[in-house]
Amino acid sequence: PHRRGAFETTARRFVGGKVPLGIRRKGLRILVTGGAGFVGSHLVDRLMARGDSVIVVDNFFTGRKENVIHHFGNPNFELIRHDVVEPLLVEVDQIYHLACPASPVHYKFNPIKTIISFSAFSLFVLIIFLLMPSSYCLWWGEVSIVLLFVAAATAKNQIEQGGGLLSSFFGLFKALIHVAFCCGLHKTNVVGTLNMLGLAKRVGARFLLTSTSEVYGDPMQHPQVETYWGNVNPIGVRSCYDEGKRTAETLTMDYHRGAQVEVRIARIFNTYGPRMCIDDGRVVSNFVAQALRKEPLTVYGDGKQTRSFQYVSDLVEGLMRLMEGEHVGPFNLGNPGEFTMLELAQVVQETIDSNAKIEFRPNTEDDPHKRKPDITRAKELLGWQPKISLREGLSRMVSDFRKRIFGDQFVTKP
Ligand code: NAD
Ligand code: UDP
Ligand code: UDP
Repeated sequence: PHRRGAFETTARRFVGGKVPLGIRRKGLRILVTGGAGFVGSHLVDRLMARGDSVIVVDNFFTGRKENVIHHFGNPNFELIRHDVVEPLLVEVDQIYHLACPASPVHYKFNPIKTIISFSAFSLFVLIIFLLMPSSYCLWWGEVSIVLLFVAAATAKNQIEQGGGLLSSFFGLFKALIHVAFCCGLHKTNVVGTLNMLGLAKRVGARFLLTSTSEVYGDPMQHPQVETYWGNVNPIGVRSCYDEGKRTAETLTMDYHRGAQVEVRIARIFNTYGPRMCIDDGRVVSNFVAQALRKEPLTVYGDGKQTRSFQYVSDLVEGLMRLMEGEHVGPFNLGNPGEFTMLELAQVVQETIDSNAKIEFRPNTEDDPHKRKPDITRAKELLGWQPKISLREGLSRMVSDFRKRIFGDQFVTKP
């Protein structure tokens, strides 16, 4: 279905499959996996505006059709519902591989609380069955007694930790989602990346991996340079994401060295902007949504941990420069401005609601204490650096969030 321009096909024959981007025909065919997600959809907008043909592949796990709906009907745009864990056959010149469920709500999960929640849930189930007529299900009586002992002990713990039966009930579902989610996440990062690299190899496409600053774990070096190997807990609650991306980087370099696939690796630091999932648990989306809904801003831990927040248009510019450039990377793509979570909450208060309250909550396990990119390499080799400050970026995303939370009629409300 998608054919190369005659000039490019001939050029590929002469140079053994690799054609410098500069001499390719205008209008490339580009695959964006995860293109219906937050970052992907902004990237698609830029590529479409440049005149390229874009194929988006997404399984809509965290992405939304609404993010790319404005391209429907454009002959240069194609949307395929597909899971990258399954093989994919398309003909393209470049692959931006973004597919990965990046929502922390699911993977930053406390397993101890999960077990406690599970047991307290069984107490809940037990009560329901005890209320049933005994003739209805006799053997439940015996099962109930065993469950009662286990559940009573653990429910005591749960309630001591500040949870109730209702939270135990939701805890069970969260636990089940967590197990399924982390397996899926790891599979997407490993099998999905392998498939996209196999595709890149077959069609001679250039492949860009969107890796993450999480590969640095809880860093012992500050700010983080690309040569730092990181400090990641391989068996921790976050490892399905961190280690998944580390494996994806390894696979990418293996295909580069072993199969001569042209690859690029971006290590993305915390990014925010319009179209972010509203309830995915990331700190910027949480604070902005909370401030708009007049709820307290939830600061985890003491709020002194730091992050560096980059606006999405800066990231997209960096990704495109990386893809078009001649350097493999990895490249840190992030804004070097460093903020504590309390400082971020303050900026959100200044931007959205000065009366917004702050509420402290227990932090999640293995939460990195600090993170800030050293972007010297990207500055020197890609000529890239972020332009949008946190204050400016936050004001830009507020109208999008307001519209999605309250509907169109509230867009102009201050
Ligand atoms: P997102 O969740 O909005 O987008 C990811 C997209 O991938 C979604 O549309 C989702 O439906 C899709 N997807 C997930 N699993 C898939 C699968 N198996 N097959 C096909 N599609 C699948 O997240 P985002 O913030 O846009 O992140 C994009 C990429 O950038 C991810 O790889 C993420 O790890 C990376 N990244 C993002 C940040 C950030 O702060 N946003 C930071 C570091 C790295
Ligand atoms: N693959 C794909 N699309 C392609 C080519 C390959 O999805 O156009 C998948 C393929 O199914 C395989 C993976 O990519 O699982 C790795 O492919 P490769 O050719 O490197 O390995 P092999 O198939 O030889 O194991
Ligand atoms: N965080 C917070 N309140 C929230 C959500 C997150 O204080 O409502 C903290 C979280 O503990 C972490 C930081 O904000 O220290 C960034 O979290 P996020 O999930 O956005 O990104 P990541 O931890 O992946 O860098």
